[in-house]
Amino acid sequence: MFEQLLQALTGAGLPDPATAPTPALVDTATSLHRFEAAVSARTHAYAAAVFQRCLDEAPTDPDPVSTIDPWDAAEAELSAALTITSAGASALIDIGHNLITRLPNVWAAFARGDLDLYRVKIIVNATRNVAEEHLKEVERRILAAALDGRAPLTSHRLRGVVDRVIAQVDADGLRTRREAATKQRHVWIGPGQDGMAELAGSLPAADAMFLSGRIGEMAKTVCKQDPRTFPARKADALIALSKGESHLACECGREACPVVGGASKVARKALVHVIATRATVNGTSEQPGWLDGFGIIDADQVRAIAEDAIVRPLTTPDEKTTDSYTPTEQVQDYVRALWGSCMFPNCDVPAWDCDLDHRDPYNHDNPATGGRTTAENLGPFCRKHHRGKTFGGWDLTKGEDGTLSITSPHGKTYPVAETGPIPLLGGTEPDRPMPDTAPDPKRYTRIQQHEARARSERALNEGDYEPPPF
Ligand SMILES: [Zn+2]
Ligand SMILES: [Zn+2]
Repeated sequence: MFEQLLQALTGAGLPDPATAPTPALVDTATSLHRFEAAVSARTHAYAAAVFQRCLDEAPTDPDPVSTIDPWDAAEAELSAALTITSAGASALIDIGHNLITRLPNVWAAFARGDLDLYRVKIIVNATRNVAEEHLKEVERRILAAALDGRAPLTSHRLRGVVDRVIAQVDADGLRTRREAATKQRHVWIGPGQDGMAELAGSLPAADAMFLSGRIGEMAKTVCKQDPRTFPARKADALIALSKGESHLACECGREACPVVGGASKVARKALVHVIATRATVNGTSEQPGWLDGFGIIDADQVRAIAEDAIVRPLTTPDEKTTDSYTPTEQVQDYVRALWGSCMFPNCDVPAWDCDLDHRDPYNHDNPATGGRTTAENLGPFCRKHHRGKTFGGWDLTKGEDGTLSITSPHGKTYPVAETGPIPLLGGTEPDRPMPDTAPDPKRYTRIQQHEARARSERALNEGDYEPPPF
């Protein structure tokens, strides 16, 4: 059986990796990735069928002592045969059974190779608590968005769309899921390798974003010559926090360290961004909101955060105020809320952590002749992809119909579309969670937690923000 399948795959004559032109290598990797999904869909279907068979064979009047649970029976059969753990076998059955019984059209897209396992798992997990009567409609809307070639959805964006669809069709489902998940919050610390321990857990999104922001701020209370990496300082900051400290001691070892003992530098307050409609904040609407770095949160969560936050209106940028190279804060907020993350295909770096790039380059010598600093000409690029666009040969262009696309140095073109909170929260039509034109942004409110000024998460990742040197 395996030999036959392998023959079908290799017999086609794949291009030689050492000699084929780069576009052919990219095409082949793309095809194989799709093929892998198609194979995985079938593996899951057969695993689900094994479970179904065990279920069919189970006695109708089970004896509590001697009867093996059909799920356990299928799990044992598969884990032994596939050399995977019980948990692995259980996950295989679970995803397969869910797809076959609840989401047959998602399974079909998986089987065609249009969705990979990673995205399928996101859809299955997010729709677990959707009521049976809403499931068909939820599935239809999710697939319409996920398979819309104009705006490819990565994990983060797909989760946003799925949550948005559920909020539209089955608001109780979103809330129920959140409440159930909140009950299962936990922190796990256990043995790791090489004298280390591992830390894992699940926390309510807003709390976790504050924790992340807090240790990020603490990690910045050292001087520039501290020898530790930023991730290592964040780890140390968590420990310092557990000891009740508000700053991280510098380890540069210099007598002249300006922050020796950390006494002169106390961590600033952490910052999170939430985008929501004014009606949600006021309590007159149950429309969900959007938490930067996370995604969709329900209306109760929005109001809980808004209670002690700074609330600012998010307004349509005024063209006249944008002649300089640096965009006004209004333009920055608007562009970031429009895109939500880096513009590069499938990059999930949050927009508030990105550089704002001029698509038509700004002319410092004669601003009137160069690209303008308007929301229309600006877009967020994470530092890596900003470098890729500036130096790596990636070309962002606007077509005659107004759609954006980016072309790789090897000539492959990919669509680029806004998928941020403004289009995401504004989507009301069933098949169009991301409308062509953003709805009136005046309806939106940007909630800024605490009084700290907007700073990028990149600043949190790498220390204080420095604009790109290019
Ligand atoms: Zn120092
Ligand atoms: Zn990026």
